[in-house]
Amino acid sequence: MKSYRKELWFETRNRRELINITGEVEKCLAESGISEGLALVNAMHITSSVFINDDESGLHHDFEIWLEKLAPEKPYAQYRHNGFEDNADAHLKRTIMGREVVVAITNGKFDFGPWEQIFYGEFDGKRRKRVLVKMIGE
Ligand code: ZN
Repeated sequence: MKSYRKELWFETRNRRELINITGEVEKCLAESGISEGLALVNAMHITSSVFINDDESGLHHDFEIWLEKLAPEKPYAQYRHNGFEDNADAHLKRTIMGREVVVAITNGKFDFGPWEQIFYGEFDGKRRKRVLVKMIGE
């Protein structure tokens, strides 16, 4: 069995951003040499997400509005977590959007459904953060 591990680094300009990382993860798959197996892609921080959805700008706008309704960033004082920090909303948004995805690898490619793309969701950005890519197979 082959095993592969890599960390991808991100530093967003904005507090919240959605970044399509499908191409980068596909590069990892090529590097791994694995043709049948599983890939795990997970955020290594509790204020960012990895999720699969459509790369459509209207939908990304809708995510922003929806997440701000569920867990508005401001006022900061509405959250108990914000004693020393201001990122309670980011913890909550991350929980809704998820920590990780698992994708099947078949014939050397990701076995995606129609329109599926992998995203890094940043909810407390402007600093360096990591995503773990782990693949196993043969
Ligand atoms: Zn926090």
